[in-house]
Parts: sequence; C-alpha cells; structure tokens
Amino acid sequence: RMSSLPKTMKAVQIQRTGGTDVLQFKTDVPLPQPEEGEVLIKNEFIGINYIDTYFRSGVYSPPSFPYILGREGAGIVAAVGTNAPSDLSIGTRVAYMGQYAYAEYTPVASNYTVALPDSIDTKTAAASLLQALTAVTLIREAYAVQKGDWILVTAAAGGVGLWLCQLLRAVGARTIATASTEEKRQLAKENGAEVALEYHEDDRDVFVKKVLEITGGEGVHAVFDSVGKSTFDSSLAVVRRKGTMASFGNASGPVTGFALARLSAKNVKLVRPTLFNYIATREEFQEAAKELWKFIEKDGLNVKIHSMYPLEDVVKATRDIEGRRTTGKLLLKP
Ligand code: NDP
Repeated sequence: RMSSLPKTMKAVQIQRTGGTDVLQFKTDVPLPQPEEGEVLIKNEFIGINYIDTYFRSGVYSPPSFPYILGREGAGIVAAVGTNAPSDLSIGTRVAYMGQYAYAEYTPVASNYTVALPDSIDTKTAAASLLQALTAVTLIREAYAVQKGDWILVTAAAGGVGLWLCQLLRAVGARTIATASTEEKRQLAKENGAEVALEYHEDDRDVFVKKVLEITGGEGVHAVFDSVGKSTFDSSLAVVRRKGTMASFGNASGPVTGFALARLSAKNVKLVRPTLFNYIATREEFQEAAKELWKFIEKDGLNVKIHSMYPLEDVVKATRDIEGRRTTGKLLLKP
C-alpha cells in the first residue's frame, strides 16, 4: 500500500567504486517500492558508518550499480509491502539497518526494522543503532566480558569505540583505549576508559610494554580491534594466554595472510565477527535493540554526535570520517 508519495527523491549514488569523487548527489532518483516483507521508510536521520566507505572504495563490493550507499537510518514508515508485520504500519516511528540509506526514502526488510519506544527519540535511534549494537554484541558474544577484565579497544573515540568504552564501564570491565590524538584519548577516558594510549605504530615494543605494565605483566583478556591491518600485530601481542582477539574492522586496511599457528603461542581465540550474523532473525534483532534501549534509559549511556550534515554535503562528511577528524557519530539529514 502506498499513500501519497513523490515519484522521485534525493539520494547519494555511486556508479563505480573509487574515491570520494564517485559520490553523486541526485535529486531525481525513482522512488523505491517496498517488496514482500519490506517497509518503505521516510528517513528523518541517516547514520554514517565507516563501512559505507568500504562499499564506496571497493574494500567491499556493492551488489549492483547504480548503488545507494548507507546502512542505517530512522524515520517514519511511509509504505508497507505485502506480509509486513502489523507493528510496522504507515506512520510508525522506526529505526532500521539495511542498505540504501543515503536517500529520502529507503526500502528495508522488516526483520531489520524496529518500532521505537516513546522514550527513544528518532535522532538518538539513528545515531545509535548500528554502532551501539555492534558494541553490545562484541561484549556479549565475541567475548563474554566479565567484571574486572582488562579489555583493549582501538579507535576508542570513534562511533563504535565510544559505545564500547561506556558499555565496558557499565559491566565493570577495565578498558585500555587507543586513539590518535590527545583530544580523542581524553574523550575515551570521559566515556569510561581507565587508560588511553597512542598506537605507537612506529614502535610496537613500546606499546606492548605499556600494556603489559598496566595489566600486571599478563596482557588483556580481550582486544576489540577495528583498525585492522596497522594494529593487528600489536593487538595480538598484548592478548594474554587463553585470551580473545576480536578483529571486527578494516579502517587501515584488511588483515590478510595470517598464519594460524601464531595463535598457539598463547592459545588465543581469534574471531572476525560481523553484526548482521549475530542478529540475523527478527527476534534476535528486536532483543538486541531492547537491550540497547535499556542501556540508554537505565544506565544513562549516550551517543556523542560529531555533526549532522545535509545529505548534499556527503563528500565533506565522508572526508571527515576517513580523514580521522571525527569523534562519535556522524548523521546525514535528507
Ligand atoms: P569510527 O567513528 O570509529 O571511525 C573510524 C576510526 O578509525 C577513525 O576515527 C580513526 O580513529 C580510526 N582509524 C585508524 N586507522 C585509520 C585509518 N588508516 N584511516 C582512517 N581511520 C582510521 O567508525 P565506526 O564507528 O563507524 O566504525 C569503527 C570500526 O568498526 C570500523 O573499522 C568499522 O568497519 C568497524 N565496524 C564493524 C562492524 C562489524 O559488524 N564487524 C560493525 C560496525 C563497525 P583514530 O584516529 O583514533 O585512530
């Protein structure tokens, strides 16, 4: 069913992968129709995630071209496809994860769309969902964090990073944060990190020695590493015996050519998780979202919004996040 909707919309498309020059802001993209089991969302806020840069640059492959970037947003249900669940009727305030979010309207699988409780405003939902759920699933599933554990978090002042710092404090873990500037390290501490370090990429031994000193010579129980290529070796070096190395991002490039036998030096568990495979069903997604709203309402966790950019300023927003000039969440306003 469609109510009175426009025929075309604003959207950011790419025709091929490449640098920020492939980003095209268009005003005449045909309005998508919701297919079976889908709802069409009128976006009020669009969330920017680092993964959007992988699909633009070619680190990950877009399924087809032209491709509309963007994997989360929040707004109002504008139309429903056949067999969409009854709690997602036209006019419902929702947040979602999916594809094609850099647009005025986005068709989304109802499995990845959640109706928002009154206590969660639409902007907070768009600014939280994907990055915060990533953090929640990391601390629950990638490594089940225990009170008192030492945890290393990379890019700790970023979107996912600030959620990890806050969540780890909420569950009583002790966080060692890394970030590239003093301002970012300060922010990580304000959000719950006990210690904040430089990466020391030019001298891994200095970094390893510092972490070992902080952890009484043992190393950390787990690392949540999103930087990938440039930090993988130092992260693995500071995991304690029987600890967990969770590598969940490629901000500096993907980790390749890893020799499995290296794990046996300390019987380390290595995981390379992705959020979507932790919350693949409607039930898992709804449960995870509920847990997140609870963290926001009861534990007072919050999202730091770096900036909200008009959709047409997508190139600037992208350059800011890729240029490591941001902290917390970037939003686009259609
Ligand atoms: P962020 O806000 O964290 O931005 C990325 C940060 O990475 C930068 O701010 C920067 O922080 C750091 N960084 C380190 N090296 C580089 C580099 N060479 N170029 C650019 N940035 C670099 O983004 P998100 O919160 O959206 O995502 C964080 C990470 O988590 C990403 O790697 C993303 O792919 C991953 N992720 C994975 C998910 C999954 O399911 N597996 C889900 C969501 C996110 P600094 O300057 O302090 O180093």
